[in-house]
Amino acid sequence: MKVHVDPQLCQGHTLCAMTASDLFALRDEDGHAYVLFDEVPPEMEDQAREAARSCPEQAIVLS
Ligand code: SF4
Repeated sequence: MKVHVDPQLCQGHTLCAMTASDLFALRDEDGHAYVLFDEVPPEMEDQAREAARSCPEQAIVLS
């Protein structure tokens, strides 16, 4: 599984980083989220799905 944050949609609510702190971090310069892994480790896939569900902007894309 791959996970991607759409920078056009992300509003920096931080919910993803609170839901999956090992998977997402926020950039200092604009507060937008980025993903810490190119490929989501299998044991973190549930966290990635939960974060995608919790994002108010639907900025997290799973593929
Ligand atoms: S929850 Fe969504 S909008 Fe908020 S920081 Fe994460 S990706 Fe961006």
